[in-house]
Amino acid sequence: MKKNNDKVDNFIDMSFRSDTIQDPLKMDNSIASNYRGYITLDPAKDFILNDKIGKILENSCPTHAITYQNNDDSKINFDNGKCILCGNCQIKSPELIKITNKFDLAKKRRDDLIETFSMSAPFGKTCDELGKELKNKIDKIFGRSLTIREIDAGSCNGCEIEINALNNPIYDIERYGITFVASPRHADVLLVTGPASKNMERALKIAYDSTPNPKLVIAVGACACSGGIFGNTYATTGGIDGIVPVNVYIPGCPPRPQALLYGILMAINKI
Ligand code: SF4
Repeated sequence: MKKNNDKVDNFIDMSFRSDTIQDPLKMDNSIASNYRGYITLDPAKDFILNDKIGKILENSCPTHAITYQNNDDSKINFDNGKCILCGNCQIKSPELIKITNKFDLAKKRRDDLIETFSMSAPFGKTCDELGKELKNKIDKIFGRSLTIREIDAGSCNGCEIEINALNNPIYDIERYGITFVASPRHADVLLVTGPASKNMERALKIAYDSTPNPKLVIAVGACACSGGIFGNTYATTGGIDGIVPVNVYIPGCPPRPQALLYGILMAINKI
């Protein structure tokens, strides 16, 4: 029979260990292989893009993130800002679509989230290189920590779960000199999630006006980038860039912590 004390002992048992990972920005094995990130056409496959394939892909996407153009030169466009990573395109065309676990999706312009099909996916600098470069910039520009105010403009809270994870012992964002603050008046960066809802439109504008210059706005998740699964309806605004100017778009549904770090550090580079 268990003693009553066992419950107390279990409750305060601190013997478990949760190690901070060495560098979450590194694109290494810390990213789960089944994490859904960058979507591309499988570069290992040799095929001819034709009307039939193009239409199957286009019709497979519930958020119209995939469009097929049949001009002189057939093209497939992937709008990462609309993609909710549901995986339906891969289910419909497993022979063509490859969902990678690459997280470095953030872009400075909304249009850059639209990838026109090519056989190889460009990834540019590694996160590690960018992280080191930008960490130096935080010290040089601010001479203190970079402060972030998170604004939920009607999100389902999926993005918030990933944003919260930035502060856990695994990712520990504060080691890069980045902290979350409670007021936009103390913030350098607004991290905004949600489609945004009409009810949050005015609040978002007020928060933006309250943030001192120089300020940066980062749209987090497919909803903030484009309205996502909600689109542009009577209750939503179809993305936050119709309300406030956006400096960096981080697509994903939701973007994982590494993707958020990559986007935040990319935003700092804009100052
Ligand atoms: S994974 Fe993205 S691109 Fe593919 S069907 Fe779903 S929303 Fe569309």
